[in-house]
Amino acid sequence: MRRKLAAGNWKMNGTRAALSELDALTVSAEGPEVAICPPATLLAEAVSRRSDIAYGGQDCHPHDAGAHTGDVSGPMIADAGARYVILGHSERRADHHESDADVAAKTQAAWKAGLSVILCIGESLSEREAGETLGVIGAQLDGSVPEGATAETLVIAYEPIWAIGTGKVPTTEQIAEVHAFLRSSLTERFGEETGGAIRLLYGGSVKASNATEIFAVADVDGALVGGASLKAADFQPIIDALA
Ligand code: PEP
Repeated sequence: MRRKLAAGNWKMNGTRAALSELDALTVSAEGPEVAICPPATLLAEAVSRRSDIAYGGQDCHPHDAGAHTGDVSGPMIADAGARYVILGHSERRADHHESDADVAAKTQAAWKAGLSVILCIGESLSEREAGETLGVIGAQLDGSVPEGATAETLVIAYEPIWAIGTGKVPTTEQIAEVHAFLRSSLTERFGEETGGAIRLLYGGSVKASNATEIFAVADVDGALVGGASLKAADFQPIIDALA
């Protein structure tokens, strides 16, 4: 049984005042897991503020330490008390030219640090319109996910680039097609048990009004939520739709 996961990606939003949003969330040990990935500056304070929420970083460097100005490593994120790190987000892939090989190296570094990786993949609008979606996603999965993945160390987030922050959402048929493809690719590569237990999130303009419909799709085990995770009033109904 895969535990549902509502993960919030705050991106480059929030100063310490934003942590009051954590206080307003209602989570339960019997309900879905709730994770918040705030900016790195807020991670340690978030962890000490509330322990029934899981936390994550938004990126990590492939090396543990060294001369890499401005970067944050897996051990640093783990030391701050995080359980997760988002890797391969399309904004990182675009803004920082991250390749699948980069994401794979970061994933290995995160695993070495004891983190679980929320690994993002997804097609652009032109790739979807050209009928290339499954090919693109399959290549990202093969190239970004190293050997040795387990259900404890890996969560896959399917995030169509054209749906992120745009208010556009794929049809439930389109989500179902990709998630079924991901499930069969993972079971083929990692075996029935592991491949069947790795959680698959949908991400891209999830909000209160579409969450229930999206979560009813087979093999959608939760969501990676950007904009609607910033305010507890917007994120709570999404969490509740998973319960
Ligand atoms: C994201 O960036 O991971 C995301 C899903 O953003 P939004 O929910 O704002 O589309």
